[in-house]
Amino acid sequence: MSLKVVIIGGGIGGTAAALALLRAGFDVRVFEQVETKTEVGAGIQLSPNATRLLLRYGLGEALKLRGVRPHAIEVRRWQDGSTLSLEPLGDAIEQSYGAPYYHIHRADLLVALSSALPAGVLQTGRRCTGATQTERGVRVQFEDGSQVEGDVLVGADGIHSTVRRTLFGEERPRFSGNIAYRGLAPAERVAHLGVRRNSTNWMGPHGHFVHYFVAGGKYLNFVAVSEQSSWERESWTDRGSIDDARRCYAGWHPQIHGILDAVDETFKWALFDRMPLEAWSVGRITLLGDSCHPMLPYMAQGAAQSIEDGATLAACLADCSAADVAPALLRYEMLRKPRTASIQAAARGNSITFHLPDGPAQQERDATMASQGDLSPRRAAIFGFDAEMIAPSPVAGEGVVVSAKNDAG
Ligand SMILES: Cc1cc2nc3c(=O)[nH]c(=O)nc-3n(C[C@H](O)[C@H](O)[C@H](O)COP(=O)(O)OP(=O)(O)OC[C@H]3O[C@@H](n4cnc5c(N)ncnc54)[C@H](O)[C@@H]3O)c2cc1C
Repeated sequence: MSLKVVIIGGGIGGTAAALALLRAGFDVRVFEQVETKTEVGAGIQLSPNATRLLLRYGLGEALKLRGVRPHAIEVRRWQDGSTLSLEPLGDAIEQSYGAPYYHIHRADLLVALSSALPAGVLQTGRRCTGATQTERGVRVQFEDGSQVEGDVLVGADGIHSTVRRTLFGEERPRFSGNIAYRGLAPAERVAHLGVRRNSTNWMGPHGHFVHYFVAGGKYLNFVAVSEQSSWERESWTDRGSIDDARRCYAGWHPQIHGILDAVDETFKWALFDRMPLEAWSVGRITLLGDSCHPMLPYMAQGAAQSIEDGATLAACLADCSAADVAPALLRYEMLRKPRTASIQAAARGNSITFHLPDGPAQQERDATMASQGDLSPRRAAIFGFDAEMIAPSPVAGEGVVVSAKNDAG
């Protein structure tokens, strides 16, 4: 009989993991706290390490229909707009890594993921309040008083994870000192700006500004990050004032102001992360995505890593009997932790590198970026990774190894 896997959280990580686990033959249920999962108006970048998995889950057509394939990752200078680096994406990336790079509206991605799940797998309006486990299984409690039993429990319930708290206690995330304004500008309102179909990152003193097209090219999505010393609330959906956003970019290139002029509303986010957790699993319960490795968005990898987690988890649980769940989860965690921790650290590093004030350090950064050519080695290591490719289950006493194909990771 196939193992019953209970996933808490129907975000990108939870739904992608469900697809991976269903494909591996498990009996899967996903419990999402909100009745109707809505996403803020914002985009997301999906690199080949994530899209190669989504294509395997049958999402190719949906991505093609709703996504946008950018030509390049471009870094520009805040004031004069000069290009500091240009790394090709488009066909070049697909040829190199066997999967495309997409920009997509989050709502479109979530719809694509959840509609690929068979009816009844995703149950909404079910808020998990805790979980207990025995040697033979897990029991999950919900706010409405109901309970569900399974062989494995996966917490994919985001940065404020209840499942993580159940396993390891309360620990507040760290405010990064950065806030982000996000919004969508209708493409026709920015047509006069000649915005290129790239993932563009403008770097300047104490901030950066990223934009790219989503929704088949109908909207230009932007994420405008600036530094702020404190944050009162941990809300993820505060409306932000466009004038405040404009003030953060005073003196920056007119294209940035042209984009801000074209939006009707912005949302303001405080950006949080955590230090890497020492452990993700206890017995039959594990974590994935932002619940265990929330990261700053400066590598555009948080969702991609949560998608990778699901693929590796399914590979580790494959052929596992109910008695072997705990070692399989430990193996999953051992395979995933070094990679996600290094990307968390790289994202933190970028919060300094991206925001350097003009001066010798900024000049050195710009020179390094200009010399890197087509695709930086760090990016190549991320994009080339195949999270499903794990070595056969190690025999007792042997270490866990990742297949040679993934040496780049
Ligand atoms: C500004 C910004 C830009 C970003 N850009 C990118 C990008 O370009 N590329 C990229 O890969 N990543 C990006 N990210 C990161 C990415 O958004 C996250 O890493 C990703 O959404 C995490 O997915 P998740 O499923 O782990 O968590 P979440 O998206 O937080 O989903 C958790 C789900 O669990 C549910 N839940 C919570 N508690 C419970 C409970 N008790 N019971 C039941 N359900 C519960 C929630 O309602 C939610 O649906 C960005 C993040 C930010 C802030």
